[in-house]
Amino acid sequence: MKVFYTPKMVADSESFSPSASKPTLVVESWLAHGFTIDISEPSPVTLEQLYRAHKPNYVDGVLTCRIANGFYNHSKAVAKSLIYTSGAMLDAAKSAILTGDVACAPVSGFHHACWNQSGGYCTFNGLMVTALSLLDDGLAKKVGILDCDQHYGNGTDDIIDELGIRDLVHHHTVGKRSIMPADFFIKLPELVWSFADCEILLYQAGADPQINDPLGGWLTTEQLRLRDQVVFETAKDMGLPVAWNLAGGYQRDKQGTIRPVLDIHDNTMRVCLFGH
Ligand SMILES: [Zn+2]
Repeated sequence: MKVFYTPKMVADSESFSPSASKPTLVVESWLAHGFTIDISEPSPVTLEQLYRAHKPNYVDGVLTCRIANGFYNHSKAVAKSLIYTSGAMLDAAKSAILTGDVACAPVSGFHHACWNQSGGYCTFNGLMVTALSLLDDGLAKKVGILDCDQHYGNGTDDIIDELGIRDLVHHHTVGKRSIMPADFFIKLPELVWSFADCEILLYQAGADPQINDPLGGWLTTEQLRLRDQVVFETAKDMGLPVAWNLAGGYQRDKQGTIRPVLDIHDNTMRVCLFGH
């Protein structure tokens, strides 16, 4: 399976969130498991592609470190990584459409990024940068975004509303309202089927809904595995290509490593490759 990864998408965010440094650790973990992944170098997104999802002045300010990034600092390393995180998501989506299958961008930090501001460890909204680029290039007439992170994807909604494109982007963010696990699993296949009129599904397989996550807390690791299984299985039944990414996850073990988060992302890849 295609995985769009480059060390250029990785940065030290100088922050509580491990998101910006997570891609390398996740890919290393997948390789250590012997998962058959085909790693490709993503292309960086262009300024014009970023300007479609964000106010140009905001884009320029972040890239020149004049405006704080989503980690609330002015790190040059983070600024340099941002064109590759969105680029990986876009390339994964293009690959999924081309093959009619699944592709992965092991990246985070998208859904709180609004039209003209960052938020919650998110600087540019790679989901919307990707959706708009696919629509502009005629690769999709409608794009689906299924956001299963713990938190409300307010930035995605903000950009959709700013541009008035709710007919072109079907966005469902699980974090917008609370739901009991039993109800979530009853409704999940129907939720995935609601994207039947889209050419591509961008799936945020967030790890922070895990019950022990310091910023999350309503599903077990096994339930998260089941979530991913239902999403991938249902999309396959529908013939709906999927490009997925990592999103949030903030647990650490006693040694201070993010192994509990890596376990969740390992499960997502395992389910994606083997179906269980
Ligand atoms: Zn989150």
